[in-house]
Amino acid sequence: MDKIILTGDRPTGRLHVGHYVGSLRRRVELQNSGEYKKTYIMIADAQALTDNIENPEKVRQNIIEVALDYISCGLDPERSTLFIQSQIPELCELTFYYMDLVTVARLQRNPTVKSEIQMRNFEASIPVGFFTYPISQAADITAFKADTVPVGEDQLPMIEQTREIVHKFNTVYAPVLVEPSALLPENEASKRLPGTDGKAKMSKSLNNCIYLSDTADEVRTKVMSMYTDPLHLQVSDPGHLEGNTVFTYLDAFCRKEHFGRYLPDYTDLGELKAHYQRGGLGDVKVKKFLNNILQEVLEPVRIRRKELEKDIPAVYDILKKGSEAARETAAQTLSEVKSAMRINYFEDEELIRTQSERFGEGA
Ligand code: ATP
Ligand code: MG
Repeated sequence: MDKIILTGDRPTGRLHVGHYVGSLRRRVELQNSGEYKKTYIMIADAQALTDNIENPEKVRQNIIEVALDYISCGLDPERSTLFIQSQIPELCELTFYYMDLVTVARLQRNPTVKSEIQMRNFEASIPVGFFTYPISQAADITAFKADTVPVGEDQLPMIEQTREIVHKFNTVYAPVLVEPSALLPENEASKRLPGTDGKAKMSKSLNNCIYLSDTADEVRTKVMSMYTDPLHLQVSDPGHLEGNTVFTYLDAFCRKEHFGRYLPDYTDLGELKAHYQRGGLGDVKVKKFLNNILQEVLEPVRIRRKELEKDIPAVYDILKKGSEAARETAAQTLSEVKSAMRINYFEDEELIRTQSERFGEGA
């Protein structure tokens, strides 16, 4: 029971079903498993500012949205510490020292940073803060001595970078930091859920999302207009599963019992897929099935959110208390880091004594 979780999200929009299957669903299970000593969930506002400097208000407004999504999904402030990154100044200090352990070339090779730079058209003018965010992410993880980081696949290069920083720090100074491991979703489709437009990744920044807080009607409309197989024109045509977003979502969300409830003509997903590939199964039928499943998952989340929305100050209070608790832990780690680096001069009696001897104290 000494395992520690840290994970988080950028407050750049409401959370979507990609977050749900990629990380949120797992976090809630882990929180409830009783196998972890601590679960820290961070709203990464400072990281979000690194690529939203033209619109800082967006970040400020979305903090509460993310907090509402968290608690509605089952993250329990009694069992998990929910906090806001910018309220923990110790994280900046750690980042500053870790910067010495990473080269510019290494950052440039980070595949997630590379593709995000492209996505944001930052090639010519990348903000330094954005470029170095993998280092600040290493500070976030290590400040809490987290060993388990439940994330989607896009975050793997970040965890790798963190492990390198930890290794370097522990080798150069002293072994005070913990090497984390990513915990990916078991199911392939959930590692990187595509957008409703069929694009590589559902992402707040790409406007191709089904949000956890969408109304039942919004979810239905989005599902019914989802990208499927452009070659499947008539019901009788054989359909393709490759790149077919509706089937990818079924891979991520569908369980055997859903067939009994919503599509009793089939026993499992394998059978449904086989029929689609043979021809004779229309997209509308499959989309209606997916819609039923999504509504079943999202309805309780929606109901809890409506309740929480009635007392917004209470939600800010949860974040405030969480941030205070998180800060204590981060301060403890920072103090160990500074001792290991031997920059805790005023607590270092030996340093003061040897220096005074060197200067011939009292001579
Ligand atoms: P932004 O576009 O602002 O980067 P985002 O939608 O990528 O937003 P993040 O806050 O960057 O969301 O990611 C939070 C967590 O959710 C990370 O662990 C990430 O791996 C996971 N995640 C995000 N999108 C998906 C997705 N489409 N499928 C699976 N996991 C995802
Ligand atoms: Mg992202």
